Amino acid sequence: MTKPAYKRVLLKLSGEALMGDDAYGINRATIERMVADVAEVAKLGVELAIVIGGGNIFRGVAPGAQGMDRATADYMGMLATVMNSLALADAMRQVGITARVMSAISIEQVVEPYVRPKALQYLEEDKIVIFAAGTGNPFFTTDTAAALRGSEIGAEIVLKATKVDGVYSADPNKDPTATRYSHITFDEAITKHLQVMDATAFALCRDQKLPIKVFSIIKPGALRRVILGEDEGTLVHV
Ligand code: UDP
Repeated sequence: MTKPAYKRVLLKLSGEALMGDDAYGINRATIERMVADVAEVAKLGVELAIVIGGGNIFRGVAPGAQGMDRATADYMGMLATVMNSLALADAMRQVGITARVMSAISIEQVVEPYVRPKALQYLEEDKIVIFAAGTGNPFFTTDTAAALRGSEIGAEIVLKATKVDGVYSADPNKDPTATRYSHITFDEAITKHLQVMDATAFALCRDQKLPIKVFSIIKPGALRRVILGEDEGTLVHV
């Protein structure tokens, strides 16, 4: 079976996923592997939009931002996502995939601004759209940007790529009895105090009835299985 389960998806990649085993920044082999995963699913015919974080370069609440004005630190974090977005788009270009970066903050010499109809047009043209600079607002996260842009473009699902292969009953790194949920409702996730996305992102997806799939970006073939609708990771649904 090679028919995608979705027509249009929003993939959220954390900035940290780009680091590989490095302490910070972008690991070449890691970004190339990520792009290969994306190339594989793009071939299946799914329309793909991506939001990438910036935690591998700068995080507004990190020790490095201590003493800084929070909004200023957050703008730095958003600029970090622009760097990651450019790196990702260029790594795609190198393997023949057309991607367009659109930024929530105007830096027009570097990247085109986010304009919703233009983003929709690119997706219809089967170009991959990378949304940079998060929501464009301090005090938010790229998870919230993923929920927001996912809602705006009418994505059927937000795919949250993490280092863990789903949502567990407890932290699998600390508790060996922790079990993975294959699916769970938004309400169950709240009552069980399970961390799926940050609270703002989670609330937006819940309000918009936009399902979230949490899956591993490290596990080979996981993205493909998710796109094909197979039992991979954890589906959070209404
Ligand atoms: N950020 C922000 N507003 C947004 C998105 C991101 O202020 O809409 C800032 C914030 O400082 C955050 C940083 O950018 O810490 C990097 O984003 P995030 O932590 O979501 O990246 P990830 O954890 O996915 O690498």
